[in-house]
Amino acid sequence: MTLTERAPAKINLCLHLGPTRPSDGRHELVSVMQSLTLADELTLEPAPEGAGEDRIVCPGVEGPNLGGAALAAFRAATGWEAPPQRLTIVKRVPVAAGMGGGSGDAAAALRLAARASGLGGHALMHELATGLGADVPAQVRPGRVLATGAGERVERLPDGGSFGVLVLPGTRELSTAAVYREADRQGLARDEGHLRRRHAEVQEAASGGDLPLEMLVNDLQPAALALAPEIDEALAAARAAGADVALVSGSGPTALGLFLGSDGAQRARLAADALAGRRPAPLVAAPEPNWPA
Ligand code: ATP
Repeated sequence: MTLTERAPAKINLCLHLGPTRPSDGRHELVSVMQSLTLADELTLEPAPEGAGEDRIVCPGVEGPNLGGAALAAFRAATGWEAPPQRLTIVKRVPVAAGMGGGSGDAAAALRLAARASGLGGHALMHELATGLGADVPAQVRPGRVLATGAGERVERLPDGGSFGVLVLPGTRELSTAAVYREADRQGLARDEGHLRRRHAEVQEAASGGDLPLEMLVNDLQPAALALAPEIDEALAAARAAGADVALVSGSGPTALGLFLGSDGAQRARLAADALAGRRPAPLVAAPEPNWPA
């Protein structure tokens, strides 16, 4: 049996950073996470005869793979004993770019394993996702969510209005951990009370549909800019190409231009055409509508 899944990228329409939790040292956050139509493609099929264990094929990504970690975690938790599988991941989402590529692959690998085995209820999928990484729970069911805690508390939000996304990938990879360390060094985290007020404001605004422009902010942006100052030029290029909002995606270094409104998709495409000479080449995406439960 061969199964396929898309693994949409995510962007953080807002990311408010809070203090670290005493329990596990991870930062609390309040973030509206939106999946994009830009997506990796995963295929799960029986591995060729003679393979002793699951195989992960993921051109462009070296080292341990989050998709493989997800399969292993699923097998361990459910006792799924199917013969070795081959998981092939075709990357379309920029790597180490702040677009949740690896996390999205992990979530998609969990969905594939659940489909292939017939095992894995909602609660178990969420628990496995939480163990795989802070950005994984929000991506088990792609769409738009409000993520809180360290990302493990996920609340479904209604689809927002239409908009287009111009993606300007960075010229280097940026480690999420390094960006968080720099955020700590700069003292960017808000205190508990401030974060709680932000939570209430974002929840109210997002549950009604679109966030007002002034709420589209990423607290990690100054940290990403300090480590990769060239992002500033990419943000300026997005603005100059007509973006209504330019912001860093997650922990960067990808710069995003958001083009709001029903003509947003078309304006984002025109902007990408105008910036076609850039390397890495600009990409265009749209919000991925909420997947059915
Ligand atoms: P996030 O936003 O989830 O914190 P990111 O989007 O900044 O992460 P990823 O593309 O997930 O970054 O890559 C981070 C690192 O994870 C890479 O340097 C890579 O070595 C590793 N990795 C493991 N599995 C994958 C995968 N399937 N796709 C991409 N990177 C992977």
